Amino acid sequence: MAVSDLLPRLDGALSADLRPLVRAARDAAAAENARLYVVGGAVRDLLLGRPLVDVDIVVEGDATSLSRRVAQQTGGRVEAHDRFGTAKVLHNGPVSTGHGQSLDLAAARTETYARPGALPAVQPGTLAQDLARRDFTINAIALVLTPPDEGSLLDPFGGHKDIEAGLVRVLHDKSFVDDATRIFRAVRYEQRLGFRMEPQTESLARRDIRYLDAISGDRVRNELDLLLREDAPERGLARLAEIGALERVGLPWHDAAWLSVKFAQARRAAPPGALLPEIYLGLLIYTMSLEEASAALQRLNFPRATDQALRDVGPLKARLADLARPDLQASAAVHMLERFQPAALQTCAFACDDEAARERLRRYLAEWRYVKSALDGHDLARLGVAQGPRMGQLLTSLRDARLDGQVRSREDEESWVRRALAGPTSAGPRHGEQR
Ligand code: ATP
Repeated sequence: MAVSDLLPRLDGALSADLRPLVRAARDAAAAENARLYVVGGAVRDLLLGRPLVDVDIVVEGDATSLSRRVAQQTGGRVEAHDRFGTAKVLHNGPVSTGHGQSLDLAAARTETYARPGALPAVQPGTLAQDLARRDFTINAIALVLTPPDEGSLLDPFGGHKDIEAGLVRVLHDKSFVDDATRIFRAVRYEQRLGFRMEPQTESLARRDIRYLDAISGDRVRNELDLLLREDAPERGLARLAEIGALERVGLPWHDAAWLSVKFAQARRAAPPGALLPEIYLGLLIYTMSLEEASAALQRLNFPRATDQALRDVGPLKARLADLARPDLQASAAVHMLERFQPAALQTCAFACDDEAARERLRRYLAEWRYVKSALDGHDLARLGVAQGPRMGQLLTSLRDARLDGQVRSREDEESWVRRALAGPTSAGPRHGEQR
């Protein structure tokens, strides 16, 4: 299929760093008599006039030797993964540090699935086979980069037409059986591009929902994470819930309207550096019973820190009524909150509808958790406190006194310690609170 001006459009859409690498790859392929293509999301986004996020290049031939030529020509180096037939040309240090620029080249390949949900076995193949292994027609289009027909599209599944119609369509009826994570991918494209699953594809997704059971927690979590990085993920989650996919991976979808409001608030108000996907997940967990949350976390196998933060949400929610008590002092709030992960506290600050509790969560996160006494252990030793548990208790009580405004300066603290040492009961009240 011919679509005029796609090559100039590609050139214009590439970053200034990537453009010379793609040109060098085209020259190298011509010299090796290899055929080179842009495939997947980049072609789709070019046709839609959307910015390119990354560019996947496929060669019918040897990706490693082609990469070496590109590296020679452009002064980069090659990281080859021969087992997968992929290679990366790297410039200015490893890309993982964020300073480098890289071009990914992959040999065209074919994939077979031994059983539903298994990772595919990969073998070298033709471009046609490479397109046929893909998820949706809109991603199964190739733009030819080498003569004789450079600039033309290879579109064996009618992807261009589906792009124009705004349809997400699988390539064959067993697509979701082979890989049920594609159900999540389909919804992600629907939301991001404003597309809709083609009706037969949607009924296949509903029919094959049970194949999600065969997908590992890590893979489901990865798809979920990608969805949560999209612009308004509550829409995608609602759609997954409608199809039955969310519940199937252990995430019941309660209270959609409340979640929509809270997701939007979190987006507007999240502090810089906050991990929005983690807060979204926390909000989701907030709507669940403790049993549901525990089952979801078991299924999704989060990394330890995230898992702990999400596990804290339910127990923290159970403390919010106490946190709202009008007579609660700052030190007591700190004792209540300091055992919870900051991400859980942040989540509950968004989730909680009680103004007093919310304000204490905010102050804890912004201020109280950093409060320390001016005196340290050495100072206390100088004032005559022996090493041992008493030292720790005094330091905690001093911090509490500072949180509650009973001491404001180093001098105040010193007299406070002297009073405490003068008699066992005169060290001021303990503000500690047991959990
Ligand atoms: P994005 O813009 O989200 O990066 P993309 O289309 O580039 O979208 P990737 O996840 O980077 O998507 O995958 C690159 C290509 O690999 C896709 O366009 C698709 O053709 C193919 N692909 C990825 N995951 C699958 C899958 N689970 N099944 C089949 N093909 C897949």
